[in-house]
Amino acid sequence: MSKFWSPFVKDLVPYVPGEQPKLAKLVKLNTNENPYGPSPKAVAAMQAELGDNLRLYPDPNSDRLKQAVAAYYDVSTAQVFVGNGSDEVLAHAFHGLFQHGSALLFPDVTYSFYPVYCGLYGVPYEALALDEQFQIRVEDYARPNGGIIFPNPNAPTGCLLPLEAVERLLQGSPDSVVVVDEAYIDFGGETAIKLVDRYPNLLVTQTLSKSRSLAGLRVGIAVGHPDLIEALERVKNSFNSYPLDRMAIVGAAAAFEDEVYFRETCQKVIDSREQLVAELEGRGFEVLPSAANFVFARHPQKDAGELAAALREHGVIVRHFKQARIAQFLRITIGNPEQNQALLDALGQVL
Ligand SMILES: *Cc1c(COP(=O)(O)O)cnc(C)c1O
Repeated sequence: MSKFWSPFVKDLVPYVPGEQPKLAKLVKLNTNENPYGPSPKAVAAMQAELGDNLRLYPDPNSDRLKQAVAAYYDVSTAQVFVGNGSDEVLAHAFHGLFQHGSALLFPDVTYSFYPVYCGLYGVPYEALALDEQFQIRVEDYARPNGGIIFPNPNAPTGCLLPLEAVERLLQGSPDSVVVVDEAYIDFGGETAIKLVDRYPNLLVTQTLSKSRSLAGLRVGIAVGHPDLIEALERVKNSFNSYPLDRMAIVGAAAAFEDEVYFRETCQKVIDSREQLVAELEGRGFEVLPSAANFVFARHPQKDAGELAAALREHGVIVRHFKQARIAQFLRITIGNPEQNQALLDALGQVL
């Protein structure tokens, strides 16, 4: 705290990301990164961009990337927004679409960045309880609101809301913006982008950090009605004209174009997830049904905080949230087969 701060800064409660350890030999299953590298074509595109061109600003509109996304999802480029990670895209959505004075609705157990953005942009909110199985109750959202946001699959539970239920939720709030944060949709769900032509209040966000293995590049997208996209563009162009650098634009575009590699690596993660779930259940864990690249699990006899600390001693880091309702769960990212085995070996020692 300092007299030099703008007054509101003192009341900010910033987001706390998962640890990025400096020790390379830890098995890192705590931030939902992809165990497989990005598409070799994306890497080659970025290498080709690395040179004298860097003295020039990038395309402020990232048209090359918008065209790749529009082609992939069969929408128009006017329906596509891109930003520096989907966290930035979400920030612009909170800023440009949720400041209506009435409460934004989101689940009580969800991505912990949402209340942070509410604090930053002065958006009031109400957190609606998930049911006993940690599922979203669609009926609860059919009430007056200043907007709705939820991840699908939800984080950190991994639970999927079927597309038909997403559509019912949209029908319950035709007069407010509904943001579906699809950070993990490629690991087991059906995208709501299929609905954007029919619901002008729907904005779907996605990231290249998880299923396209480019967390280090920082690229996120949004797809929705051109009027929603225009709000995001106006906020973006009042904040930073060049959020995506030259590397990010060509690398992300190439990643969208390499569908074969994308499908292969997603399938490997999905197969590993099903194996890991069976192994964890065999060791007494209760595991929520996951459509993501992580699982959310609790052990009936072991305190989750102690378990996370003990796993770390054995060289494996997972995520534990000291939060009501989920304090006895661990969120475990799906690694490659060697990493998953290291987790199981460590559990064998700890349990
Ligand atoms: C990882 C994640 C994001 C952020 O993705 P970036 O593009 O890396 O900023 C957004 N929403 C949810 C639910 C996430 O898990």
